[in-house]
Amino acid sequence: MWNPILEKLGPSELKKVQLLKLKRILAWAYGRSPFYRKKFDQAGVSVDDIRSLDDLPKIPLTDKDAWLAAQGDCGQGFGTTTAISERETVRYHQTSGTTGKPIRLAFNHRDWNWWLQCWGYGLAALELSREDRALVCFPFNLFVGWWGGQDAARLMRCCVYSGGGMPTEQRLQVILEHRISVLMGAPSYLLRLAASAQKNGIRTSDLTVRKLVCGAEPGGSIPAMRARLEQAWGAEVFDHLGASEVGPWGYECSAHPGGVHICESFFLMEFVHPETFEPTRPGELSRLVVTSLEKYSQPVIRWDLKDLVRVSDQPCPCGRSFRWVQGGILGRADDLIKIRGVLFSPRGVEDVVRSFGPVSDYRVVLSRRGEMDELTLRAETALCGTEGEPLKNDLKAALKVKTHLRFGIELCPPGTFPRQEIKTRRLIDLREKENADEQG
Ligand SMILES: [Zn+2]
Repeated sequence: MWNPILEKLGPSELKKVQLLKLKRILAWAYGRSPFYRKKFDQAGVSVDDIRSLDDLPKIPLTDKDAWLAAQGDCGQGFGTTTAISERETVRYHQTSGTTGKPIRLAFNHRDWNWWLQCWGYGLAALELSREDRALVCFPFNLFVGWWGGQDAARLMRCCVYSGGGMPTEQRLQVILEHRISVLMGAPSYLLRLAASAQKNGIRTSDLTVRKLVCGAEPGGSIPAMRARLEQAWGAEVFDHLGASEVGPWGYECSAHPGGVHICESFFLMEFVHPETFEPTRPGELSRLVVTSLEKYSQPVIRWDLKDLVRVSDQPCPCGRSFRWVQGGILGRADDLIKIRGVLFSPRGVEDVVRSFGPVSDYRVVLSRRGEMDELTLRAETALCGTEGEPLKNDLKAALKVKTHLRFGIELCPPGTFPRQEIKTRRLIDLREKENADEQG
């Protein structure tokens, strides 16, 4: 499993470990993956040119679009990004496809074990023990999501319940009957589970749930969402970060420094300016570029994750020397939209809306009237008519303070928006469609 010694290494020792692993994965990728061989050759870079971590930017970036193109439309196999044969593949997964075509992911036996070790760091940091019973609220489909969390918890001798294919009421029954102590799931779903308990006359304070492991959505690190989860369950919240292509790279420790540790023995992170890609300093808003140091089936080298973070240079009281990012993921570089000259990130809306108890879910609709971009918050709430007027005004005012933008507010009855257990896209951009309609 994880190696706690690595979590305490000093910066120079850690760099040595990272460089060793980096050279190994670069040589492997060049030798085995046609995708990376072409990339290196086109850039005129050889593996021997990378003598220190500072040489890394000589290698061009890669991202989801490049992988999708390499995957091709042939409908078979995993394309040129893989570095193993199909015979060696023991697990097949794919991305959720919320933003387009899914990316195919191949794992050999070694890589899946590595994936579980990444999770091992996170589960150890939240002090999971063999006394715990964990329920994983996840549909267990081809999305890699919580498969790793489940298998890693099992390796740690924790008793694990796979909560796939069961309705919310049945999950509550399992929590009650089996004295579940840890829940793993998307934060918005865990909130809904608590609301459902209340509706069914179950007091969460009577339950044994003590820890919530949140992932798949940014909510676990959003203060308002976190506070609601803590209050709803009377439990400690731990955010967990990762990406299907890259691996589970971030975890929160029980010291809760206000952010998430990076698993730096397995992931090499570069922090760059969101637009210029120049290296940034600690504390500055940065775009994350990641190299997965031990992912051999489908190597990930200088992957533009497009996540925005601020890395801290402060030590964590837990004693781990792995750095941590303040407030988890702060937004997405490709979600940053300029509206009426103001840079807007949907993350700010999440923070505001989750602090309003009567709002159970929401969508942000971006549309265009003439030359003007318009923002509308559609908030799901049981309050309606004149009863909802004060809520509308309060939401409008709070959003203005947080985002410096004016929002139209529409209240919708509960159940308006479909519920998803994996990840929900809450920003609906109608502008391109409206432009196309005008031109058509
Ligand atoms: Zn810590």
